[in-house]
Amino acid sequence: MVKNVLKVDIAGRVDMIAENDFANGVAEMTRYIFITGGVVSSLGKGMASAAVGSLLQARGYKVRMRKMDPYLNIDPGTMSPFQHGEVFVTEDGAETDLDLGHYERFIGNFCHKTDSVSGGRIYHNVLTKERRGDYLGATVQMIPHVTDEIKLFIESDLTDEDFVLYEIGGTVGDIEGTIFLEAARQFANQVGKNRCLFLHLTLLPYIATAGELKTKPTQHSVKQLLEAGIQPNILLCRSQKLLSDSERGKIALFCNIAPQDVIVALDADSIYKIPLQYHEEGLDDRILHYFGMDDAPAPDLTRWTNIVSVIGHWEHTVRIAVVGKYCDLLEAYKSLNEAICHGGIAHKTKVDVKWIESDTLEDKSDDDIARIFSDVQGILVPGGFGVRGVEGKIRAERFARENNIPFFGICLGMQTAVIEAARHLLGIENAGSTEFTKDCTPVVALMTEWEQDGRKQIRSEKTDVGGTMRLGAYPCVLKEGSLASKLYGGAAQIAERHRHRYEVDMTVARELEKKGFVVSGVSPDGLLPEIIELADHPFYLAVQFHPEFKSRAFDPHPLFKGFIAAALKQTALL
Ligand code: GLN
Repeated sequence: MVKNVLKVDIAGRVDMIAENDFANGVAEMTRYIFITGGVVSSLGKGMASAAVGSLLQARGYKVRMRKMDPYLNIDPGTMSPFQHGEVFVTEDGAETDLDLGHYERFIGNFCHKTDSVSGGRIYHNVLTKERRGDYLGATVQMIPHVTDEIKLFIESDLTDEDFVLYEIGGTVGDIEGTIFLEAARQFANQVGKNRCLFLHLTLLPYIATAGELKTKPTQHSVKQLLEAGIQPNILLCRSQKLLSDSERGKIALFCNIAPQDVIVALDADSIYKIPLQYHEEGLDDRILHYFGMDDAPAPDLTRWTNIVSVIGHWEHTVRIAVVGKYCDLLEAYKSLNEAICHGGIAHKTKVDVKWIESDTLEDKSDDDIARIFSDVQGILVPGGFGVRGVEGKIRAERFARENNIPFFGICLGMQTAVIEAARHLLGIENAGSTEFTKDCTPVVALMTEWEQDGRKQIRSEKTDVGGTMRLGAYPCVLKEGSLASKLYGGAAQIAERHRHRYEVDMTVARELEKKGFVVSGVSPDGLLPEIIELADHPFYLAVQFHPEFKSRAFDPHPLFKGFIAAALKQTALL
């Protein structure tokens, strides 16, 4: 059905246009859920959004998850992990917010480049259009030009989704976020409110002295949303305690919603319990009720009940050392941490991670190093950037190689493992990477030319640092009979996600083959080493890519599964 809706055109004129023109190409019955947050940041909005998506998916619906980040960076690729946590890389090579990692881990589908946008990207697009003369003499303004650009994102690249969820980053009231709320408000007004739901995540602080959950911050936060013209339809309230009927009634009364639409999100000891908790609280029922879909099929939650039954009843424990450099901030290793946990789930094994700041290893004696690693059954060296801590990683890698400790190196972890082996097995004393110093024999160096999607990519040391890495999925050919090939179930070729500028020199990798190494994964043209392993070792595997991005609790990544299995075998030796 074509309905007429109001639309402000780019010259500022208000016109009646057909809804179909606006929601160009979007299936008429797609429903949109906007997720906002209030009261404080760090409430786990990304997790909450992912869990909501997973519940709708469990009902058999096609779900798409998206993120709008109001900050002014074009993408998070240039932000320090200390500031923003991990940069999540999509299959199609976008550097995105770590919340997209939650979405993929909960929904199982791959997110796309088009599923994430920042304020910076929106303004960049608007200003590019302004310079190009696309606005035909108009005064370029926040409304309608910036809001239209945001709405273009909202409706872009959709096909036959039943539900599209949009998480709006930040907290209601943030200056940068206001324009995104305005665009969402306009969008809901244009496609019809019955097709858009606003879900607001807040906090109910518990004041022990009063013995009460406090609802006032939630009321204030909803007032702020109302100022932006948005009446939330469902409130998801983070809380340490269950709500009493009177507290629920008070929130409903002041926030203008039904008591059943006040959903309590109790603190969970595992993120994988959240979908089940939300379901018990009736969240998916209320969402479907809002959209007039009370007859929706019951959800199939087996995926989640299976995981929760493993998590609640671990049969074994192993301890893994992760030698990284952002260890104080676990958000910086979000996907890695999850993938390690998934590797454990595959073996009903709880994995304790011993986080070790790599630079603390640098001035240690060999005895100290042995002592530090004496209580772990595996050593993992993750990805990273810059020279700080590199020598500590090399110490850890040498220890793992020489002492038959299961070792898993990822990205920088593979590059440093090659530097270590080049120094100690090939006798190249000053082996290094040009990322750290020009004053070395480079066994890892800047890749200046490569092919992506049939197009030649060229980079130099002078290229901008933003968005100029080898990014996203690239194929990798596996060597038959190798550990890697076995772990991947005998596959001849796999594809994994990359995010790096530097590459291991193939000549050096081949030299290492004479010392017991196997180059077990290479780029299809045979030029780039993608996986190296040691033949005569319980488990020594290093990869140039980031397998952690593709691991799921319900489908653990084979390399993490293999690594944890090897660590488990060590426990039998203890
Ligand atoms: N710093 C290295 C590079 O750019 C490794 C990157 C990473 O570990 N993601 O190649």
